[in-house]
Amino acid sequence: MENCVFCKIAAGEIPSAKVYEDDEIVIFKDIEPKAKIHLLCVPRAHFATLAEADGERTALLARALAKIGRLAPDLGLAEGYRLVVNQGENAGQTVMHLHIHILGGEPLAWE
Ligand SMILES: [Zn+2]
Repeated sequence: MENCVFCKIAAGEIPSAKVYEDDEIVIFKDIEPKAKIHLLCVPRAHFATLAEADGERTALLARALAKIGRLAPDLGLAEGYRLVVNQGENAGQTVMHLHIHILGGEPLAWE
């Protein structure tokens, strides 16, 4: 989608510190890390919310989660990690292109 920063990152039109990419997803370092390791997993397909996940998008998200699981050791996350999907204004979703935060590299607080 035009003027979407994550579409542009996925297309390589905006530089990012990519750690993985394939034909469906890209994973890159968050520019404002909230943990020692903070990555963003972004599907190349543009949609903003889980509510917009139809059959194909649902399958894509399932594959993305499974890939994160398989890639975790290579991403420095062998000791554990947390996934976060912010949805909407109250959650602080700042980019309206669905993305999965991957946090780890250190013990994470859980209250
Ligand atoms: Zn987008």
